[in-house]
Amino acid sequence: MKTKKWYDYLWVVEITYFVLGFFNILFAWIGMIFFVTPLAISAIKGDKLYCNRYCGRGQLFAKLGSKFSRNRPMPPFFRTPYFRYGFLAFFMAMFFNMIFATYLVFAGVSSLSETLTLLWTFKVPWAFANTSGVTTWIAQYAFGFYSVMMTSTILGIVTMVLFKPRGFCVYCPMGTMTQGICKLKHKGES
Ligand code: SF4
Repeated sequence: MKTKKWYDYLWVVEITYFVLGFFNILFAWIGMIFFVTPLAISAIKGDKLYCNRYCGRGQLFAKLGSKFSRNRPMPPFFRTPYFRYGFLAFFMAMFFNMIFATYLVFAGVSSLSETLTLLWTFKVPWAFANTSGVTTWIAQYAFGFYSVMMTSTILGIVTMVLFKPRGFCVYCPMGTMTQGICKLKHKGES
């Protein structure tokens, strides 16, 4: 049997991240590590080591999927560049929208909204997460980033149940970005 390494338990970090966000929304900032690390690894090493080894979310989907997935093939549509790059573009547009909302709070144009926006649509009150003594724009970014992380996890869980355990990886924006970076890097080297 293969000996487990420390990175085989990163799914625990993923769960811990979401639990902490119930108590203090500032923990959402830790999610920036999950955002920057895959990009850095693909830019430096030119491979998808993060996805293959260090992604706690992918591990979590695999674990849950071993029990709850229907294990059906992903519809080919999800693998098309149109869908994958289209979804990435949409995801990034929503990401910049979140940054703009943070800017508006920073500039004093908007007040802090203590809500999560799930699936870019549903507003969920989240005022119970502690934000006392925190600069409002820092808290606003945390609410926005936590919403992004929750939204992608919900999509991943739905995809896991309906199709394959790691079906989300087929169209995950981080996966699409790291794949694009690897391609560019290898093209530049050849
Ligand atoms: S594709 Fe996305 S969810 Fe899948 S392993 Fe990579 S970063 Fe994680």
